[in-house]
Amino acid sequence: MTTSVLVLGAGFGGLELSSRLAQELGAQVDVTLIDRGDAFVFGFAKLDIMFGKRTPEAVRLPYHDLATPNVRFRQATITAIDPEARRVVTDVGTYEADVLVVALGADYDLAATPGLAEVGHEFYSVPGAEAVRDVLPSFRAGTAIVGVCGAPFKCPPAPSEAAILLDEYLRGRGVRDATRIQVVIPFSTPVHPSPATSEAILARFAQRGIEFVPGRKVTALDPATREAVLDDGGRLPFDLFLGVPVHCVPAVVEASGLATGGWIPVDPATLATRFPGVYAVGDVTSVGTPKAGVFAEGAARVVADQLIARIRGEGVPPGYDGTGSCWIEFGGHQVARVDVDFFSTPGHPTGTFTPPSERTAQEKVEFGTSRHARWFGLATG
Ligand SMILES: Cc1cc2nc3c(=O)[nH]c(=O)nc-3n(C[C@H](O)[C@H](O)[C@H](O)COP(=O)(O)OP(=O)(O)OC[C@H]3O[C@@H](n4cnc5c(N)ncnc54)[C@H](O)[C@@H]3O)c2cc1C
Repeated sequence: MTTSVLVLGAGFGGLELSSRLAQELGAQVDVTLIDRGDAFVFGFAKLDIMFGKRTPEAVRLPYHDLATPNVRFRQATITAIDPEARRVVTDVGTYEADVLVVALGADYDLAATPGLAEVGHEFYSVPGAEAVRDVLPSFRAGTAIVGVCGAPFKCPPAPSEAAILLDEYLRGRGVRDATRIQVVIPFSTPVHPSPATSEAILARFAQRGIEFVPGRKVTALDPATREAVLDDGGRLPFDLFLGVPVHCVPAVVEASGLATGGWIPVDPATLATRFPGVYAVGDVTSVGTPKAGVFAEGAARVVADQLIARIRGEGVPPGYDGTGSCWIEFGGHQVARVDVDFFSTPGHPTGTFTPPSERTAQEKVEFGTSRHARWFGLATG
């Protein structure tokens, strides 16, 4: 008998889940993967787009290249999810399955930060990163703020990386002395599970004259005065605002009744939702790990392994361990890595820091190429 699995969202979580199921189970599983987009883009590629290092075309992995046997990709916008019936309505048809996996990621709510769309920029979407790329050449003097507008947000090191790369970019253009860079983050340190990582980032900030404003969020931008308004009422004048927007579940998830308190609650070991046969992985959940691709991928692997074991009649596989490695751009073609563990000591995540190097930068490239090959059926492994 074939088990039908409907995977909503072809991002980090959805691609990892689909490819693993198909590779392990072959024709024992019938996977339908749905996404509104026509291509996958790694989150970190947005930093490359923003600083003009790579074009949006160069970083797209088109879904029409998906060659994984037993995975049927459908480009469609999901308009309704009925988790009790495991039925999904899209703009091109309705789907039902034995197992439903929600991997729809996080959307952005720009309107939650008044003034952001009018006088600021976000760099968390491809169009947003392109807009920043187009405006950066005209920034020659004044204050740039890299500011976080809400938590949780994807890839906690990303605002620090953006500031370090902005410093490098402005130095390269010979205008750094005429500019000021401030980073506003709602945490006391840039990467709180790893003091060594935070120390390295703060040391780089100090070395490069990047000012750090910890423990604060940007709640609004005042178009009249061009000031960022902070959550304690403080105001910071800016000439260029590069924002991390408020994150939220996609509207279709909110309407489905799957989310509680903003995100989909899941059993942290199994990623099961409260609806039988319905799982959720990645940024759309409140599983307790950061919103990052490596965690979405790890969670997807755990769901895949449970389904594989169940279909093969094997024992229950290990649960989700909440570990993952994040890359951190340090400029000068150097990348650092932090290996984090969120579940071993509940409430006390830990992290191990690997200092920036060109070798780690190469590891990051290999991370991307290995996923491309695995997810798109270009190679096995
Ligand atoms: C600047 C930046 C840097 C980052 N750097 C890193 C990094 O170095 N390492 C790392 O691990 N992570 C990084 N991330 C985070 C990473 O990109 C995300 O956490 C990851 O993509 C989450 O995976 P996911 O599967 O949960 O969701 P996503 O990958 O976002 O996939 C969700 C999919 O659902 C689709 N979708 C949503 N709604 C609908 C709908 N109604 N109908 C149809 N389809 C829909 C979307 O099109 C999308 O393809 C970064 C992010 C940013 C913005």
